[in-house]
Amino acid sequence: MSVRVRFAPSPTGFLHVGGLRTALYNYFFARQNNGKYVLRIEDTDRSRYVEGSVENLIKSLTWAGIEFDEGPHIGGEFGPYIQSERLEIYRYWAHHLVEIGCGFYAFDTSEELEQARSAYPHHEFKYERYKMRNQFTLGEKECKSLIEAGVPYVIRLKVPENEEVRFVDIIRGEIVVNTKEVDDQILLKSDGYPTYHLANVVDDHLMKITHIIRGEEWLPSVPKHILLYKAFGWEIPRMAHLPLLLNKDKTKLSKRQGDVAVEDYIEKGYFPDAFVNFIALLGWNPTSDREIYAMEELIEKFQLEKVNKSGAIFDVVKLDAINAKYLYSKSPVDLAPQLRDWLTKRGKNGGKFSLAYLEKVVILLRERVKKLPDIIDFAPYMFEKPNSYDFDYFIKHWDDKVEVYLREILNFLKVIEDFNHHVLHEQITCYLSERQLKLKDIIHILRLAITGLSYGAGMFETMEVLGRQEVVERLEHFLEVVLPELRTKSNEKF
Ligand code: GLU
Repeated sequence: MSVRVRFAPSPTGFLHVGGLRTALYNYFFARQNNGKYVLRIEDTDRSRYVEGSVENLIKSLTWAGIEFDEGPHIGGEFGPYIQSERLEIYRYWAHHLVEIGCGFYAFDTSEELEQARSAYPHHEFKYERYKMRNQFTLGEKECKSLIEAGVPYVIRLKVPENEEVRFVDIIRGEIVVNTKEVDDQILLKSDGYPTYHLANVVDDHLMKITHIIRGEEWLPSVPKHILLYKAFGWEIPRMAHLPLLLNKDKTKLSKRQGDVAVEDYIEKGYFPDAFVNFIALLGWNPTSDREIYAMEELIEKFQLEKVNKSGAIFDVVKLDAINAKYLYSKSPVDLAPQLRDWLTKRGKNGGKFSLAYLEKVVILLRERVKKLPDIIDFAPYMFEKPNSYDFDYFIKHWDDKVEVYLREILNFLKVIEDFNHHVLHEQITCYLSERQLKLKDIIHILRLAITGLSYGAGMFETMEVLGRQEVVERLEHFLEVVLPELRTKSNEKF
């Protein structure tokens, strides 16, 4: 039997990082088994539906490099792949369940249910089949006439009494639950929509899903699903429930402690391959001594049964470290156009910089940042003249003599033959030593004049990349305009 797996997100806004991991593990499993991968949109809970989220989900999955064989965006022989387009199918199977005695009609109003629920203040509510208003308490005839009169009804699962439901989870092993703990779950709501449980089971069956790989939060639903499969007489797919993702303090990964939407990480400038690499290792690792794996290798090495049972910590520091490694190993030629796009996205008109220039900027700064667009924040002076100057740094390093030296340095920068960092270093050092000075006597103010900041990459390398004309212009501007201002400010202060 050929492997068929699915990723079945609900369109409630965005792709959660835990959802991406589920999507990835399904993808690895499908590919390594030459199986088929289905994308199914579970949108039957209309109250949670968010406009545009299907497009967002597909965009984020595509960004991550996950490819599907069937889905709403590509079609396939088991479609439609959006549950709200399959309502007739669920209605059919819900009624079928009643016919075969495994489901029943119930007419309880929300007030009646509310009241019944209030009797369970401390533990989970269980529907009392022989007390509430339904097929059993009202009788077949009454039930039929209510339906004919158009009274709203739901269809519930008739959970067998005191039976053991057993299943083997690929990651967790055997799980046994007594039906005493299983509620007569609503399967078809009064608005004609199915609940998750019915739609999920019906679709997994009709779409011939062989393996269900999803988050641990769905584990409590499994007994209901098993009862449904058995009632329908359908084969039960194999199941694997993935461990939760946790914050650093081991609480469930939440928005309060950081970003949980894949989109946020795209926006921040993580590389898709680095992000996939990091996410794939949450809860599974092929070896203990390596952390960099390309998609192809992840597909080849993935072992579903080796996924951990315990929660996996989502550690952004580790993500940054992995991304930084990718940044360092990628070709600057490939990164230059990406940096140009980031500049434009950040309102800086990337088009005005040549790719050759951006390539040099990448080489100069890639070791100092974690993500490509961080270069823009870390070294804004590579893209525009400084518009402010670090005053404290100025106070700390200013000495009136420096002005004379800077003016002389400016003059020979204009004529120096090769404007590269070796020559700059050598000549400036030589000039200083003739005056019994050291590099540290001027380098800070030189940095301030050229970048406005107190930190950055090597000063001579930075000057080389900026080029002679730019460096000269900045130094002139500093000496003529900025310096008098900084001095006045410092006189006022001291
Ligand atoms: N629609 C569910 C979700 O949003 C899918 C659960 C499952 O994979 O069965 O995660």
